[in-house]
Amino acid sequence: MRRLLIAGNWKMHKTVPEAVSLVRELKELLKDVKDRDVLVCPPFTALYPVREELKGSSIYLGAQNMFYEEEGAYTGEISPLMLKDLNCSFVIIGHSERRRIFKEDDELINKKVLSAVRHKITPILCVGETLEERESGETEKVVERQLKRGLRGISEDDEFVIAYEPVWAIGTGKSATPQMAQEVHLFIRGVLGELFSKEKAFQVRILYGGSVKPENAKSLLEMEDIDGALVGGASLKADSFSKIVKFEEA
Ligand code: PEP
Repeated sequence: MRRLLIAGNWKMHKTVPEAVSLVRELKELLKDVKDRDVLVCPPFTALYPVREELKGSSIYLGAQNMFYEEEGAYTGEISPLMLKDLNCSFVIIGHSERRRIFKEDDELINKKVLSAVRHKITPILCVGETLEERESGETEKVVERQLKRGLRGISEDDEFVIAYEPVWAIGTGKSATPQMAQEVHLFIRGVLGELFSKEKAFQVRILYGGSVKPENAKSLLEMEDIDGALVGGASLKADSFSKIVKFEEA
């Protein structure tokens, strides 16, 4: 059975003292949670102090992005070796903000996904349609293309997570309904079944992201093919993130 994964994407928020204090609160609030995985993805500058603060806790540490080369003349980039060095277990790849603002395309995203798995960092590959694409009936086409290109060269034994994040739901307060999200998650599992074995498709965790809050987390996470959440805004406060993890309504 798939184990739930609730991930917090802190984006470009939190100084070092703020990050340490958030994770300290989370450790306390989530200390009894044993039946699901919890992940925090702070900005690069806070990875080391958060790693130190997380020692002895079962909360996983992840990054929000990485470059695909191990080292070299790539000013401003962070490599998979640097993330391994900090015990990062996961890395978010292809978030819609990186696709849109930083012009990352499927080819670059694929190189990052391949590099992450090669270094035994689990990539969380983000896919999702814009409002325009949804309204013109292209959701499945877009998601299928992002999956097939993003996962090119990935093999059956590689570990990865998919996050379905409809772009129109990110940071807007407008979440997909559980039924809408479930429909796309089932479609994603079908595409994974074409790319890999049925067993693999069944095992892969597919997270939902887009305005997840304590008020809607339970109904989304109870859907059959929704195996967790990628949470942006609501992961910035210990109270709301821990409520999402524990399915407590606000
Ligand atoms: C995200 O950043 O991946 C996200 C889903 O943001 P929010 O929860 O704020 O919509």
